[in-house]
Amino acid sequence: MYHRVTNLPNDPHLVAVTPKYFGDHMEIIRKHYMPISLQQLVKGLPDGKVPTRAVVVTFDDGYPDNLHEAMPLLECYDIPATMFVTAGQVGSQREPWWDELDRLLLQPGMLPPKLCLNIDGSIFDFQLGEASTYGAQDYRRDRGWHIAREDDPGPRQHLFRKLLAAISPLEGTEREKVINDLLVWAGAEPIARPTHRPLTIDELVQLQKCGLMEVGAHTMTHPNLADMAAAQQRTEIRQSKQTLEAILNRPMMSFAFPFGSSTSETVAMVREEGFTCACSTRSDLVFRGVNRFYLPRFTVRDWDGEKFGHFLRWWIGD
Ligand SMILES: [Zn+2]
Repeated sequence: MYHRVTNLPNDPHLVAVTPKYFGDHMEIIRKHYMPISLQQLVKGLPDGKVPTRAVVVTFDDGYPDNLHEAMPLLECYDIPATMFVTAGQVGSQREPWWDELDRLLLQPGMLPPKLCLNIDGSIFDFQLGEASTYGAQDYRRDRGWHIAREDDPGPRQHLFRKLLAAISPLEGTEREKVINDLLVWAGAEPIARPTHRPLTIDELVQLQKCGLMEVGAHTMTHPNLADMAAAQQRTEIRQSKQTLEAILNRPMMSFAFPFGSSTSETVAMVREEGFTCACSTRSDLVFRGVNRFYLPRFTVRDWDGEKFGHFLRWWIGD
C-alpha cells in the first residue's frame, strides 16, 4: 500500500515515497517477485490459482503524482497497480483536509495565539502561545517531524495531532465546516498548493488510459466509515462508485476503506454495492480463504531498496 510517489519538503502524514526509492521497489518486485493486478488476485483466490510470490501494488487517495511520477516507473517495469480515488476530491481546487492542516499549522507564518472551535457540538480550545509565530527557521528545524513520532517538538505539532484526531471521525459537511472555520481563524485562502492538489478529471481519464492502472473507489469524502451511521456509509460508498463510473465509463470493481476504517456492516455494504473486492489496512499476507472484501495490505514507507527488499523477504519469505 502506497499513497504518494514524490519528493515532499515535509511529510507529516508519512505518505510519500521518493520516485528514486519507488523505482528501486518496482525493480525488486519485477526481479524477485510476481507482480499481478488486484483483479487477477481476486479471480485466482477461490481456486488457489495465484502465482507464488505474487505481489499487488496499490495507491490510496488519488494524488496527481501517481500519474506523473509513479506511472512512468510502473510502465518501465511493466507492473500493474490499483489506485483508490477519493471521488469527491477529483477536480477540486481544495487540498484534502489533512493537507490543509499541514498548510495552516506546520508551514511558516503567523497564527492567532488562541484557537476556539466548535467541533460537532463540543468546544475545542487551544493556546498556541509563542508558537503563534512560526518562522522559516522553526519550519526547517521541525520539518522532519511526522505523526508516527511519539514526541511533538512544539504546540503547532501538538495542535496538528489533536485536530487530526478530532476531525477524522466527522462526516463530510461537518468536517468542511470545521476546516472552513480554521481557514477563517488562520486568515488563509482556500487554495491548493500545486504539490497537494487532487487529481483533475483529465488526469484521472489519462491514468486509466495507460492500461496498467485500475481505478478503484475510496468513498466521496474520505471519512472514518466505522464512525458513521449506516445510511451515510452507504451513500459514501455508492456515490463514489457512481461518480467514478460516470467519469471513466467503466465499472468500478475495487474499493478501499479510508484509514482502513470499517465494521462488518461496512464490509457487507461494499459487497452489496457490486464491488468484487475491498482493501483494508490490516497488515498481513493474503491467504486462500481470505475475505476478499477485507483484503490485508502492508504499508510501504520511504525505504531504500535494501530496506524494502528486507521487508518483502520478511513478509513473503525467501
Ligand atoms: Zn485514503
